Amino acid sequence: MTAHNFSIEFFPPKTAEGTEKLSITRAKLAALQPKYFSVTFGAGGTTQQGTLDTVVEIRKEGYDAAPHLSCVGGTRESIREILQQYKAHDIRRLVALRGDLPSGYGMGGEFRYANELVEFIRAETGDWFHIEVAAYPEMHPQARSPQDDLNSFVRKMQAGANAAITQYFYNADAYFQFVELAQKAGVTAPIVAGIMPITNSNQLLRFSEMCGAEIPRWVRLKLASYGDDTASIKAFGLDVVTHLCERLLAGGAPGLHFYSLNQAAATTAIWQRLV
Ligand code: FAD
Repeated sequence: MTAHNFSIEFFPPKTAEGTEKLSITRAKLAALQPKYFSVTFGAGGTTQQGTLDTVVEIRKEGYDAAPHLSCVGGTRESIREILQQYKAHDIRRLVALRGDLPSGYGMGGEFRYANELVEFIRAETGDWFHIEVAAYPEMHPQARSPQDDLNSFVRKMQAGANAAITQYFYNADAYFQFVELAQKAGVTAPIVAGIMPITNSNQLLRFSEMCGAEIPRWVRLKLASYGDDTASIKAFGLDVVTHLCERLLAGGAPGLHFYSLNQAAATTAIWQRLV
């Protein structure tokens, strides 16, 4: 499994307690030997320092780490400063995104879409960064059509991205079809599958509603039938997500990117079943 591109995502903790907890989580997950950890970036720069601090801490421990960088609401100058800061810390990989501002902020800023950010990063820093971008096998919720969304994705790759990570999904066929269409459109870079472990059904339904990931009906019904029985939810979730990962890897997915939500147990359990 380590031959695959296997990575784990965190969000930057907001409190000292969260920082302490994340360092324990990280020690557990580092034992799985992921290729790198990534750390999210609150759109509008809200977690800028927390993202950098977390990445620096991970790198001090001897692991590779990629900050995410979202451009919505940002200016060329503010993004340039962040890139210089990352370079000064010898950070060599980035996950480049448009991001979502909280409603009410409007779009603002000097970047409209992630392809403009990728272009800007390449123009400013050449090949310094290995750049990953987002992909949406079940379509980004704001896209006009699946074809439009695919075109936007291809544009982002052509702007200079090295690889992509997908939004999470539970329909393996949506991933395989997306990869096939992207390849037909000329994308040769790896499209790593984003994996969201299932540990809590209300949280999952809420997230999925926002980001456009479909929870298959049979999965929703089963989760609902367990009510507050978290042990059954976790056991069922582990079976469903492990099976999904097995299908993806058997079908040629170049790697898996785990949305850990700063928890070690679920990602570890899935991983141990896969090796
Ligand atoms: P884009 O690629 O710009 O696409 C956004 C929408 O615009 C899509 O509907 C696309 O089809 C459309 N579009 C793109 N270009 C054009 C164009 N030229 N004309 C018309 N329409 C266009 N969010 C954060 O805030 N922080 C994070 O750290 C973060 N990490 C993420 C990591 C991963 C792996 C993923 C999958 C998502 C992450 N997100 C994060 C969420 C992401 O910011 C949102 O999904 C956001 O709505 C879109 O970002 P994007 O980079 O995919 O945008």
